[in-house]
Amino acid sequence: MSTFKAPKGTYDLLPPDSARFLAVREAIAAPLRDAGYGYIETPGFEDVQLFARGVGESTDIVSKEMYVFTTKGGDQLALRPESTASVLRAVLESNLHKGGNLPVKVWYSGSQYRYERPQKGRYRHFSQVGAEAIGAEDPLLDAELIILADQAYRSLGLRQHRILLNSLGDRTCRPVYRAALQDFLRGLDLDEETRRRIEINPLRVLDDKREDVQKQLVGAPLLRDYLCEACRAYHEEVRELLTAEGVAFEDDPKLVRGLDYYTRTTFEFVHDGLGSQSAVGGGGRYDGLSEMIGGPALPSVGWALGVDRTVLALEAESVTLDLPATTSVYAVPLGEQARKVLFQMAGELRRSGIATDFAFGGRGLKGAMKSANRSGARLALIAGERDLAEGQVQLKDLESGEQSALALTEVVAEIRRLLG
Ligand code: AMP
Repeated sequence: MSTFKAPKGTYDLLPPDSARFLAVREAIAAPLRDAGYGYIETPGFEDVQLFARGVGESTDIVSKEMYVFTTKGGDQLALRPESTASVLRAVLESNLHKGGNLPVKVWYSGSQYRYERPQKGRYRHFSQVGAEAIGAEDPLLDAELIILADQAYRSLGLRQHRILLNSLGDRTCRPVYRAALQDFLRGLDLDEETRRRIEINPLRVLDDKREDVQKQLVGAPLLRDYLCEACRAYHEEVRELLTAEGVAFEDDPKLVRGLDYYTRTTFEFVHDGLGSQSAVGGGGRYDGLSEMIGGPALPSVGWALGVDRTVLALEAESVTLDLPATTSVYAVPLGEQARKVLFQMAGELRRSGIATDFAFGGRGLKGAMKSANRSGARLALIAGERDLAEGQVQLKDLESGEQSALALTEVVAEIRRLLG
């Protein structure tokens, strides 16, 4: 062990388990790629004001959880706590929205940083794959994204995830609701901090997990009773589209989510095997965000799925992913001459597309064969001085244990044939 440990609230991804993480990222990305989403990558840090304005000063994410720092040049930056604001900033900055090709559909994959109280499923460094469709107001697009997330979870073999759905209204109806909710909340018996929250972000009070608060919230006005006609029709269409696609969802009139920028469609993917950190992903429509960060009106919708929690959900459902071994051939040289010949041959195999590893460090046969077995390779290529003198190598099938001699000149062709 070294003197150092991973910082609190973080953990390392290590082989072989890390392969599952990669597979989850890939499984979430695959349906997006197939649906026309292009890959986008933005910096891990941004001007702190982007998040203050884009995510909202009143959110926990910005007010309590951001890693903020001042650079040597005097810039105030923050590690990204989420990526939607960054993605929109990047699209606006590069004028992607001006090509007459709306919506701009992009997906990303990367680390996010939040100074949270760590527990199982809640980390200070975690990983999301996300998708954003920028610049179109179309219920089909909201539906598309929810369907693609559901498809990703299903392709991984998850079955116990649920989709919660709500509408948060728009600029017309939400303020009316907000005022009605504030009136109701001011009459309750709440602590100082929650009372403050009523004034800056009353919808978040609905999200309060404490039982004594939830008890008092029975009878609170619900947004769905305040939706304007346009929002109601929009939401109804999203619901119908999902139903027509056979994607099951539950209406959750109290789902508000922790970010300020959401309008209309909001949704969360939850998994019942995860305990208190049950949200595996979430998203929604954010029609006002572009203007909040100084851009033109660009109605948009997106989601972010948590990779860490998706892996935990797979564990909770005892789903084992069918991950093919990464190494197909393992080369075991015996002696100095064989090291050079097999090293060259390993290179040749790799160049012809066959994943090959090698027993480095001049190890003995026994130890090297152990590594060969552990690598998951189908075949071992073994050569000693005598084999080479006869112009051949030994090819061992690690599944059946069968071994046969093979002319050096035929190795690549024969291995290709065997591996199909
Ligand atoms: P949010 O941006 O808060 O809507 O989060 C979207 C998804 O990211 C959540 O559903 C989680 O899967 C994941 N997530 C958010 N915060 C954390 C965290 N602190 N640790 C691990 N995963 C997280």
